[in-house]
Amino acid sequence: MWQPDIETMGREKLRALQEERFLKTWNHIWDNAPAQRGILQAAGVERGDVTSLADIAKLPFTDKKAFADNYPFGLFAVPREKIIRLHGTSGTTGKPAMGAYTASDMAVWKDLIARVCAAAGVTKQDLAQVSFGYGLFTGGFGLHQGLEHMGVCVLPMSSGQTEKQLMMMRDMGATVLISTPSYALYLSEAVREHGIKGELKLRVGLFGGEGHTSEMAAQIEENLGITATSNYGLCELTGPGVSGECLYREGMHIAEDHFYAEIIDPETGKVLPEGEMGELVVTPLSREALPLLRYRTKDITRLTYETCRCGRTHARMAPTLGRSDDMLIIRGVNVFPSQIESVLIRQEHIGPHYMLVVRRESAMDTLEIQVELIDGSVLESYSMLERIRNNIQGKIKDILGLTVKVTLVAPQTIERFMGKARRVRDER
Ligand SMILES: [Zn+2]
Repeated sequence: MWQPDIETMGREKLRALQEERFLKTWNHIWDNAPAQRGILQAAGVERGDVTSLADIAKLPFTDKKAFADNYPFGLFAVPREKIIRLHGTSGTTGKPAMGAYTASDMAVWKDLIARVCAAAGVTKQDLAQVSFGYGLFTGGFGLHQGLEHMGVCVLPMSSGQTEKQLMMMRDMGATVLISTPSYALYLSEAVREHGIKGELKLRVGLFGGEGHTSEMAAQIEENLGITATSNYGLCELTGPGVSGECLYREGMHIAEDHFYAEIIDPETGKVLPEGEMGELVVTPLSREALPLLRYRTKDITRLTYETCRCGRTHARMAPTLGRSDDMLIIRGVNVFPSQIESVLIRQEHIGPHYMLVVRRESAMDTLEIQVELIDGSVLESYSMLERIRNNIQGKIKDILGLTVKVTLVAPQTIERFMGKARRVRDER
């Protein structure tokens, strides 16, 4: 079964398992990962300083820079010959952060994915269309192998070729859609435009690779007639499978037998108590090729350890508000694109596609929101445009205390994304 007993294990027992695996990881790093050992020693930490999981707070964080400094294989803890798979982050600039997997890491990964899928209600009877890109990005191959491992029939479409995606979705009778939320939204709009919702058998979507708001999920659900679930992972930490929603959708269950999660204040690095919003820091507990200590994900979320209505005892993380990297600081105000998105998507007459443009005009930062109208004829009504603009401006002022410029543009004029969306253009 893909809901193993470990997912409903009592928290004390789970903690004992984490403790055991953490100490094993700790020793593995000291014995086999010289670069990571070097990072610890440079921070004044010695092997004997850690004798239990509680000592983790003494340790320095690992971040993306450690990957860059030790590119490509420096952080690894096994010889190259034991690695059977490599993946990399989809960073748009510079070198990717490389992830590595031994045969044992691959076995764990498949299992983690199968758990996420099972939690979202996927069964062997399903046919899953994987519309994640296949390649260095962990999404495509990750979901593919986990689904196959469960015995689910996989249709590996990769991303792009929307017309073909829709044809195959309909002809093959796909019941599960796997993609980024932005691509799911794009596909779902195409389904609506073609009026083929009634011919599809889709019932559930598993969306990951980037964060999304509940409003965006609702729109995808409406267009496709499905239940949309979120899942989470990072290449540096294996890939998808770190956490995923069950059908109650009250947070993503973290596979705590394989990942130890902390929330920190991104400014001070201080560990925050349960329920507080901060940056997610993860220590994988069972990795051979790439053990890491306290990896800073840059994702802003919060945790709850309350047992879920589904019976799972593993901690749940809230949908990520955004990456601390995506956070814009405009005239001293912290702005996450997701906060703007949640306003836009509730607004009548406008679609879910938008672009945020930040500029500096005579030492003043300005934020312009370009957003598409659903119906282009609205552009001819000045009073209507004015009303929509004022509405959006007012709501954003309420939430963020920030005055923004709103530009309404014709349908289909804002760029669509097949993979992860890029919704911010910072021209400062
Ligand atoms: Zn649950």
